[in-house]
Amino acid sequence: MLIDRFGRAIEYLRLSVTDRCDLRCNYCLPKGFKHFEEPDNWLTFDEIERVVAVFARLGTRRVRLTGGEPLLRRNLPQLAARLSALPGLEDLSLTTNGTQLSRHAAALHAAGVRRINLSLDSLRRDCVAEITGSDSLPKVLEGLMAAKEAGFAPIKINMVAMQGVNEQDIEAMTAFCIEHGFILRLIEAMPMGDTGRSAHYLDLQPVMRRLCQQFDLVEQAKSLGGGPARYWSSRDGSFSLGMITPISQHFCATCNRVRLSVDGTLYMCLGQEEKMELRPLLRAGIDDAGLEAALREAIELKPERHEFRERPQKLVRFMSMTGG
Ligand code: SAM
Repeated sequence: MLIDRFGRAIEYLRLSVTDRCDLRCNYCLPKGFKHFEEPDNWLTFDEIERVVAVFARLGTRRVRLTGGEPLLRRNLPQLAARLSALPGLEDLSLTTNGTQLSRHAAALHAAGVRRINLSLDSLRRDCVAEITGSDSLPKVLEGLMAAKEAGFAPIKINMVAMQGVNEQDIEAMTAFCIEHGFILRLIEAMPMGDTGRSAHYLDLQPVMRRLCQQFDLVEQAKSLGGGPARYWSSRDGSFSLGMITPISQHFCATCNRVRLSVDGTLYMCLGQEEKMELRPLLRAGIDDAGLEAALREAIELKPERHEFRERPQKLVRFMSMTGG
């Protein structure tokens, strides 16, 4: 097992397969951004598989493919099939913006991906265009329905809730998720990079109280999926709504994850700088025992918590660089 200095078991890896994205969500990646990682620096599928296999031997049970937009990485279903076949790995999931999902949903499901989180901040076409920088809603909805058709379960909708931008869309999104059997997760904007800092932060605590009354939701004692979200469900259990509140109520004490970026940097915390560069080790021919020792050393660096609230200026990395 990988246990950090604060007694937390690290059993979840978020794996960014590209830092590129076809959208420019205004809280994430700046318009005109060009400083993407060079392809020579991308971990190859062989390198990714090796690292994940060593993580799995050290107790990692769950891997989430993310990015950037993970579906922009060519042949992603092939990588998914290789990862889902690794001994010890129990859960392979994907976070996507959905624009390419209608083409890849069936292949991803066949490759062993079972759970999908899809990012969607509004059901209003003009609002989505304003946030993402492109008229993407029709494609995203097509992808979402293709995922439902392909049998992914659960499907979670990630909605970054922002004051004066899409807060008025939360009720409509809740009703949409109830209708289609999706789990809705509301997320507070995090001050990552200038983009994240300029997002219109909305405190989700009062929003949740309002939704509980309106949709008759009750708080759940257990998390769904082992992540940081707190959940509320309808009384018949058919609908769940989660809240990810890194700012108004952080959850670092139960953090169980690390993040591997496309260039092989292992980040210990979304909101801090501690990291270990794995690519030079892999390309210098490190053996599996050495890699295992490197991962243990890296976990020792994991900080106790982020400081999004106390030091919002601290982090210059955008979410898409780390792998959100
Ligand atoms: N492209 C994929 C997607 O859109 O889901 C995966 C990567 S994206 C960086 C992962 C998640 O991070 C998305 O749900 C996005 O809304 C969220 N995100 C990006 N920047 C954020 C920020 N500053 N605060 C909160 N969430 C953010």
